[in-house]
Amino acid sequence: MDNRGYVMSGVSFLLVLPAIMLFMVFVDMTSTGIEGNSRVIQSSYVLNDAKDLEENIEITGKQVFKSEAENVVKTGIPLSNSRQSIKENMQIKMNQITQEVKDNNGIEEECNITSVSSSEDPFAVEVNSSIKVRKDDVTHQEHISQDITILDPQYPTPNPLPFIKCHNYGGVQLANSRISFGYSLSKYLESRGVENAAAYENATTPLIIKKCPYDPYIMHGRKEFKTLKNCIENGYFHESSDGSCFLCRLEGKGTCPHYGMETYIIPSPLTNISSNSTNLTFNTAPSSIDHVIFNDTPPGSGTYPGKKIIYLSEGGNLLILYLDNAHRQKYGFPLA
Ligand SMILES: [Zn+2]
Ligand SMILES: [Zn+2]
Repeated sequence: MDNRGYVMSGVSFLLVLPAIMLFMVFVDMTSTGIEGNSRVIQSSYVLNDAKDLEENIEITGKQVFKSEAENVVKTGIPLSNSRQSIKENMQIKMNQITQEVKDNNGIEEECNITSVSSSEDPFAVEVNSSIKVRKDDVTHQEHISQDITILDPQYPTPNPLPFIKCHNYGGVQLANSRISFGYSLSKYLESRGVENAAAYENATTPLIIKKCPYDPYIMHGRKEFKTLKNCIENGYFHESSDGSCFLCRLEGKGTCPHYGMETYIIPSPLTNISSNSTNLTFNTAPSSIDHVIFNDTPPGSGTYPGKKIIYLSEGGNLLILYLDNAHRQKYGFPLA
């Protein structure tokens, strides 16, 4: 009996052995499984953080474009190198953000703004950066190129150019989200010897850069100028290969080699001529496009004239523009 008992337990041990081995393998498998899972969680954590960082670069860009433009609006003094200035100020802000993330979440973030340049989209600025995110032993690194818009209504960005150009001629005023030139624009044109500069006494132009939705642009001159009227009332800007880009506007350049934008400069309305008024009126004056009026390189020669268009008669007021044939063609007006 005793011997048999030993034999039995030996046999049962042999029978149980595979089960024990299986169990050990299983335990090992689950523990590596857990490790693998935590690696997956960690790397998705890092990837999400890299995405957040990318969004932060975008927001920071918008904030800096706006504040750089607002500074120029305040001082009337152009930036000597807008790309460098935006790059440096974005870097300062990004350093603060990455430090905060490290302090709060223990994630190591690095962000280097490597360059800022004109984008192919005139309503955006190209920002290049390299980022690195590290959490424990998972690291993510990449180079990013972003076209960051200047059109986000949360960060309304003013057109700095008129403030620079008219700074030495009495400056400009702000009224109803428009720039009102008073006598400064006509004085500025006069100082350059431009003919009929007085046509721009009390002229206005939009303050905030907004993109015109009326595309194709030839709509502006059609249907009794209704589109033109809406465009002017809303203060829109148009794409233009002659108009300067946002970055060059910050440097006070009226034209530049980059694909840029243009907006109308609206002469003050004429009070109805039929009432025998002595209103100063011209048939020809500088063309009412900002890059034509602000093209002062070389002095005087860049501004060319346009013929008068009365686009609306409103309560005894005649709303007018002066336009050259190239711009008449672009916006669908009858040629002069
Ligand atoms: Zn328009
Ligand atoms: Zn430019």
